[in-house]
Amino acid sequence: IDISWKFYLGYRRNLEQMKLVEKEAELARAALAVKSQFVSVVSHELRTPLTSIKGSIDLINSGAVGELPQKARSLLEIAGRNSHRLALLIDDLLDLQKMEAGEMSFRFEPLDVHATIHEAIESTSGFATKLGIHVQTELEAPGCTIMGDRNRLVQALQNLLSNAMKFSNEGGTVTVSARPIGSRVRVSVRDRGVGIPEGAEDRVFGKFTQVDSSEKRKVGGTGLGLNITKQIAERHDATIEYESELGTGTVFYMEFNRVTGSEAPEEVPVRPQ
Ligand code: ADP
Repeated sequence: IDISWKFYLGYRRNLEQMKLVEKEAELARAALAVKSQFVSVVSHELRTPLTSIKGSIDLINSGAVGELPQKARSLLEIAGRNSHRLALLIDDLLDLQKMEAGEMSFRFEPLDVHATIHEAIESTSGFATKLGIHVQTELEAPGCTIMGDRNRLVQALQNLLSNAMKFSNEGGTVTVSARPIGSRVRVSVRDRGVGIPEGAEDRVFGKFTQVDSSEKRKVGGTGLGLNITKQIAERHDATIEYESELGTGTVFYMEFNRVTGSEAPEEVPVRPQ
């Protein structure tokens, strides 16, 4: 009797613990759903009025209300810059929320690595000009392809490029290269800028985290770009890493599985018939 009583008590304890764990998991799921819904609603509700604010600023800037005094122009410039920052933050928040909820759709197709790099460089050329940055390329293996989602990969490269530009000195050079390594291709973005101190990986790839204090920066940021970039890389079975030296510069690498590549075709894995 004694043994069965002990057994029964043990059984009850386990049952209660299991119920507690289940309850906790349920609460965590509910919290995640509320958070995700909150971010999504807030982001959409913020986006519409912001579009109208930006539209009005652009209209005034285009001279629609006539010539403005210098003071008004510089105030308008501040308003424009900050509404742009807000728009970037909202886009990043929406992307992050979609990614975490598993709602970010990826459309994989064979992509030419060089063309994808050129597209990302092209789309950041305005930013480069504004900061006086020269972008150069060192692209090996013409015709090299990977399976990827074009828009998402361009977005990931844009993040790396705009960071490289942001953290460069004025008039600096950013180098984008592509190099086959065995059955993979390594795409890297190198700057000769401020560098990242040792042991900052968590802050570099974390959410809303930045390595330096915002007062020192020329251009703001959300601290979300590299977190999103890393998630995009993971969805492509790609790795993302960096090497950096303070005061010398930083290089970010992404490595993808190659589908084809004219440099080393013999290394492309052959599928069994
Ligand atoms: P942010 O919007 O601040 O650029 P990211 O997630 O893109 O956010 O980057 C996180 C942080 O990593 C940056 O705030 C910066 O401190 C550091 N970082 C990223 N790229 C570079 C780089 N090329 N050189 C120096 N620091 C960098």
